[in-house]
Amino acid sequence: QPERKPLLAGNWKMNNNHLEAIALVQKLAFALDAADYDRAEVVVLPPFTDLRSVQTLVDGDKLSIGYGAQDLSRHEKGAYTGEVSGSMLAKLGCSYVLAGHSERREYHAEDDALVNAKVKAAFAHGITPILCVGEGLEVRKAANHVAHTADQVRKAVDGLTAEQVERLVVAYEPVWAIGTGEVATPDDAQEVCGAAVRSTLAELYDEATAAKTRVLYGGSVKPDNIAGIMDMADIDGALVGGASLKADDFAKLVRLG
Ligand code: PEP
Repeated sequence: QPERKPLLAGNWKMNNNHLEAIALVQKLAFALDAADYDRAEVVVLPPFTDLRSVQTLVDGDKLSIGYGAQDLSRHEKGAYTGEVSGSMLAKLGCSYVLAGHSERREYHAEDDALVNAKVKAAFAHGITPILCVGEGLEVRKAANHVAHTADQVRKAVDGLTAEQVERLVVAYEPVWAIGTGEVATPDDAQEVCGAAVRSTLAELYDEATAAKTRVLYGGSVKPDNIAGIMDMADIDGALVGGASLKADDFAKLVRLG
């Protein structure tokens, strides 16, 4: 079994200005100790405008907290008003970036081809993409969630090398569980993380490659439900929205409850 260090990634979404960001990361740093960082990788994903503040704090205090962005442009540079490139994020020390979060897919019409381009843009700048996949409620009700999610994975990794897939992080986030308080059961989450995510990567590449990819669950993860989710064989961490905005809760998640 290859080592897959648990990853706890906090997606702040459109919350916290650059001063609030400093306060939250400071609180988080106070709440965590060396044993926590040994056990899990801790990453925050603030809005673009907070990244410089977070970088200054992390560098200045030599914090073991990683950080990244919630989105990036598929383009390198140029006339793309409002967009932020992978090279800009890399320059700010970002080690991760979300690609294809369901809110981007839904509110910004991001399709699988665009998500694929963003995943490649991240790798091109040495940033690890956290590829988000997952089905909506209708698909779940029709029991098509495994096929639907597997298809998203297949399209998003098109053209990646095996080395890139080993470094890739995939977050399975059933849309009906995001921000709703409705959490998938550990068995439901494991079903998709195993049968739709890891198996698809094994099919497209090989078992050894797929065994290295970290697969996260996301959707209303809280201190009282994380332990059961993290117990599952194919789940290597969590992508957390709401609970990442409170330092104490996020620290509890790092300690699995
Ligand atoms: C998310 O948006 O990635 C997420 C999982 O949100 P929440 O934890 O609030 O459901």
